[in-house]
Amino acid sequence: MNTAEVVVIRLESWVEPLDRPANSYLVSAGDLKFLIDAGVGQLPKEALEAPYVLLTHWHWDHVLGLARSKYAGTLCASPRTISYLRGSPPAYEGSAAALRAFGDVPEELKPMLQVSLSRNSEIKEYVKSMESVRTFDECEPVARGLVRVLECPGHSDDHVCFIAGSHAFVGDSVNPGSGLSVLDINDYIRSMELLLSDPRWLTAHPGHGPDVDRAYVSSWVGPDSQAEGPVVGRAPQLPGHPYPGEGDKLSELPEGRNHAGGHTHNVHSGEAHQQGPYNISR
Ligand SMILES: [Zn+2]
Repeated sequence: MNTAEVVVIRLESWVEPLDRPANSYLVSAGDLKFLIDAGVGQLPKEALEAPYVLLTHWHWDHVLGLARSKYAGTLCASPRTISYLRGSPPAYEGSAAALRAFGDVPEELKPMLQVSLSRNSEIKEYVKSMESVRTFDECEPVARGLVRVLECPGHSDDHVCFIAGSHAFVGDSVNPGSGLSVLDINDYIRSMELLLSDPRWLTAHPGHGPDVDRAYVSSWVGPDSQAEGPVVGRAPQLPGHPYPGEGDKLSELPEGRNHAGGHTHNVHSGEAHQQGPYNISR
């Protein structure tokens, strides 16, 4: 990997119904600047001037900032993420699936579902209009060895993590101070082991919440986590990142679809009968 000095600036943005800001990161690696994720709001001028944005996954709270800011640089993402953003969302969490499941959604969560669907539509229209959308192998920061891309499915099946210098960008693979919904727990554990197997990174930058260290990331899949039982229940299934605002609202869901964690309230979409997503409480 290229050993250029890496400097990271965190950018936070927030819109309803997120329970806390979405992080994106402006990264300088040698002479090249790029963004990792785009948050949900207007990006500052310096970020808009970055020629690349790399996405960890397709969920709207990591991408909406592109549309809201009319970002005109190059979008770099995995083929799966690109296909989801262009309007082929996965069967378990696509708009059509969500609408089919709409009747099962508790009344108080329906407004969030509507918000998520409209945000996904806004993103789809914007990404379709972007002139430059590339996969990682055609993306300069990756091609020049400034960024390593790790496939990290678990939270979503298109999720990737990035390593640049001593920094890991882990998207929603960890969620410091809160819970995490995981689509496939086995994928998730494998992904975290892969992430931890790279000894170079010292600091992990998550999609929400503060920076954390390796020990903290390890704790999400380590012996302590297993002892507690990381899988504490099924999340209700809505598209994108609709947060109910208060975790205890989820306890009102029908039996078998509520969650056992006290503060786990990140909710992702999908068809109710499919496996996962699960919530992990930390
Ligand atoms: Zn997510």
